[in-house]
Amino acid sequence: MKVHFETTECERCGGTGSYSYCEQWGSVCFGCSGSKVQLSTAGKKARKAYDAFCTAHRATKMASEVVAGDRIKVGGDPFRRVVSAVPSSTHAIKLDGTKIPYVEFTFAKGVSGPLGTTYSLGVVKDSYVTLAMTPEAQAEAFAFARTLKGCTVTE
Ligand SMILES: [Zn+2]
Repeated sequence: MKVHFETTECERCGGTGSYSYCEQWGSVCFGCSGSKVQLSTAGKKARKAYDAFCTAHRATKMASEVVAGDRIKVGGDPFRRVVSAVPSSTHAIKLDGTKIPYVEFTFAKGVSGPLGTTYSLGVVKDSYVTLAMTPEAQAEAFAFARTLKGCTVTE
């Protein structure tokens, strides 16, 4: 299922996707990045409400508690499935004189990202990672989206 937010014709370019030419960006409209549409007032409100709902229904976990199979998000990365999470034998940080090892995550192959398929994450007290919503929470989010004006849910 997918959530769509209501759009209207871009006001800046009148739905053409282009605007006045400039040397650096050509004639791509800044209002819609060339997509010709922008979120409507109701669509904007719906997206904000939906995003807030999803944020509230995502759990967090300490990096040291992550297990294989978890789908996690670290920083600005997309959600990725963890294949293994093991304490690093080579990487650690020092905090108040105590050595705290990193947890090394390996992610499912074929997931693109600037960091590739493996990398380490430092485990400090507040080193929490965000978990992807459970199927139950996602179903609730879709049900919530259906109640919003300016928003449609498709199969
Ligand atoms: Zn535009």
